This record gives sequence, structure tokens and C-alpha cells, in this order.
Amino acid sequence: MLNVLKNRFEQGCKTSRYPKETVQLLPRYRGRPVIDQNAPADVVSACAQACPQAAIDPAAKTIDMGRCVFCGTCERISKGRFITFTQDFGIAVAEKEHLLTTGSIPDLAAHARGHFKKLFGRSLQLRQVSAAGCNACEADLNVLATPFFDLARFGINFVASPRHADGIVVTGPISRNMKTALLQTYEATPQPRVVIAVGSCTLSGGPFRGSDEITEGLDTLLPVDLFIPGCPPHPMTNLHALLNFFK
Ligand code: SF4
Ligand code: SF4
Repeated sequence: MLNVLKNRFEQGCKTSRYPKETVQLLPRYRGRPVIDQNAPADVVSACAQACPQAAIDPAAKTIDMGRCVFCGTCERISKGRFITFTQDFGIAVAEKEHLLTTGSIPDLAAHARGHFKKLFGRSLQLRQVSAAGCNACEADLNVLATPFFDLARFGINFVASPRHADGIVVTGPISRNMKTALLQTYEATPQPRVVIAVGSCTLSGGPFRGSDEITEGLDTLLPVDLFIPGCPPHPMTNLHALLNFFK
């Protein structure tokens, strides 16, 4: 017992001081994209053709973050002359059209639905539904419960039953087999309920776009309140989104 206490004392507090202090991510992390509107047309066209997600509109020079899997191909091809990815992990949006970006992303807190903040205050219970995800989005949500992120200190918890939840957090491309279970979970969640879409698969079908077996966008089935892009979204992106949408 003394050894346990000694270890705890020696290790100290491992919990991040975010949001009071910023968190520095690894240099290879790709966050908010920045687009040079003056990029040469041939470079823009080469990026659009190479994008595996058809996420680049060469005419408008925009990226659809709902489709983007942040693979970095466009940054590599353009050698920074068209698209570069920043370390900014605050890329979640409350309106789907805000996923189409030239680099600036509206302040999430300013677009969050006021009634959610008032209703849920500092106690928010969420049910996670993996609708055929690859487990990476799910793992990066699970990690929010670990000591470094400690989501519970903000009054936000994941619960086992939708009947105990204020909303659902959906991951995965919503396969044909998971669609009914997802809709039943939504119906079992008491109103008012919040719907959060996490990851490229849930936002647009992600790498599975075009398949008859999936749904291309949770918003085609349910009213989505919060869109969190990424493949998977970094845990800091998820945390930033939850804190800013409900603060
Ligand atoms: S980073 Fe996104 S926009 Fe760029 S090539 Fe990959 S999927 Fe396409
Ligand atoms: S968005 Fe990417 S990480 Fe998340 S479930 Fe789909 S393939 Fe996996």
C-alpha cells in the first residue's frame, strides 16, 4: 500500500490543464487546412485529381472537411503552394456547410445552440453508437476517459444506456446492418437530445463513400447538431468540440 501511495506521489497529476493551457500536438499532426487562393491552376488540379476522397473543389478552391481523411496527399503534391495543414485541432462545426472551408472555420461556441448549453449545463451524458466504424474513431473517444484528458472533470460522461443519455455520439459509416440499431438508439434517448457525428465516415461515408452498404452522411437520417471531422478526429478535436459546443 505504501508503495502504491509512493508511486502516486512520485507520478504526480497527469491530467492536462487544457483548456486553461494549450496542448502542443506532434509536428506530424494535421489539423485545420489553410488554402492559398493564388495557387497555380495546374497545382490545384493535380491536388484535386490525387485526392482519394474527392474532397477538393478546384474551381472554388475549397476542401470539404466532411470528406477529407487528412491523408496529406494534397499538401505533399502542392509542396505547400496550395494546401497546408496547421496544428489547429479546433475544426468541429455546428453547421454542415461550414465543413466546406478555405481555411477559416467559424467559432464553434458562437454557432452552438443556446438551448443545449442551458439544458445540459455542466452535466452531459452521452451514448456512443459505433455504426460500423473501424474502431479508430471509437478508440479516440474512449481515450477521453483516461487521466490525461479526464472528460468527467467537465461533467461529461459516456453511459451504457440511451435511456440515461442526453444524446448520442455516432461513429462509422452507418452500414445497412447498423442502421436500425442506430435509429432505435436515437428513439430510446429522451428528448431533448443532441446528435453528434464523429469522423469522416459518419459525416460523408468517408473511405466507403459510393458503397450501397452505407449511409453517406448521418444528417440524411437524423438532425445532426455537431460535426467533428477527421479520420479519426484527434481526441483534442473531440474535447475542443464538446467543451465549446456546450460551454
Ligand atoms: S488531405 Fe484531405 S483533401 Fe488532401 S488529399 Fe487527403 S483527403 Fe484529399
Ligand atoms: S472516419 Fe476513419 S477512423 Fe473513423 S471509423 Fe471511419 S475509417 Fe475509421
